[in-house]
Amino acid sequence: MDDVLTRAARDPVGALRERAEASGRELGLAFSSYFPLEVADAFDLEGAWLPNLTAPDYPAADAEFQTFVCNPVRAAVEVVLSEGLPLGLLATTTGCDARLAMGGVFREERVPVPTVMLRLPVAVGTPASLRQAERALWAFCDEAREALGHGLDEDLLREACAARQTVRERVTDLLDRMGDSVPAVRAYRAALASQVLAPGVVLDALDSAPRDDGSIARGVRVLVSASSLPSLQTIEDLESLGAVVVADDTCTGTRAASRRVTPGDDLLAAVARSLVERPSHGPVMVEPGRARVDRVVALARRREARAAVFLRHKFCDPHAFEVPVLRRALEEAGIACLDLEVDREPGLTPRDRMRVETLLEGLA
Ligand code: SF4
Repeated sequence: MDDVLTRAARDPVGALRERAEASGRELGLAFSSYFPLEVADAFDLEGAWLPNLTAPDYPAADAEFQTFVCNPVRAAVEVVLSEGLPLGLLATTTGCDARLAMGGVFREERVPVPTVMLRLPVAVGTPASLRQAERALWAFCDEAREALGHGLDEDLLREACAARQTVRERVTDLLDRMGDSVPAVRAYRAALASQVLAPGVVLDALDSAPRDDGSIARGVRVLVSASSLPSLQTIEDLESLGAVVVADDTCTGTRAASRRVTPGDDLLAAVARSLVERPSHGPVMVEPGRARVDRVVALARRREARAAVFLRHKFCDPHAFEVPVLRRALEEAGIACLDLEVDREPGLTPRDRMRVETLLEGLA
């Protein structure tokens, strides 16, 4: 049954198409781990995030964007403009400039699907940020109701919150055991598949996976840090060179999976709270003091990582600005660092493979 997860992780667009065909429902497609998919589910859509995809060129998106737009956004726009997916709603979010531009492109290109933006706070850790998250989610739901002609279904929301939380807990558990009792590829496969498959399908696949988790890579224990994971191939490439990925600091992995909803009388407010109080944020969400830096260092130490590899998407300012700060803190903690710029390649480039080999040889 792991094959279901593998197929979805390697061909997310195919998996999304099959999912919509099987259910007869349209997709509620989002592009950021900050969009709570249970809300799309509650509008009777098949809620999904689009993982990063790679291709040599994106004819439709390249016509819309300047050259300096990161691959995750360019690839997502290409999918929307050219794949003909059965879409019911496009859910964009605030955050970095690249994501912010997506709605404008969809409108400019007259994509015949409602595009609604969730306007998240820019900083977390204050009562004001919680109020802003609640207001943003209510506003999103109002706008989606107007666009779709029907409101959010409370029962569907409750059901989706529970199912998606169970998936996030399972993915967290896999990520926490990476490199020790779970191969990293398996953990990332589950994380990627959970973005595009229905929660029930992911849970069935995880439940029926063989007890034997497959072989664990041996080598230098490494933390991986990125916006979204470039591809499953990147993890396979790192491990083929002698790394064993033991810690994750990506939106594809820990940052998305760490969110928890504490159900209460007002479930939508609880979802809003889960967005700002998620234990692990990326650099697009400003946290008080050194919270993010200290958390990444603590994660690397807890998982006994000896090196950190930054998989930094080309043209990604939020991550480019924070890499020197993270790097300094990690190196002070005795953790070697390597900053790799990734773009449209399916895996590591020959040059980057060499740089990884040099790093690992120095630590062997
Ligand atoms: S955070 Fe960086 S990689 Fe992610 S969408 Fe924004 S610019 Fe692109």
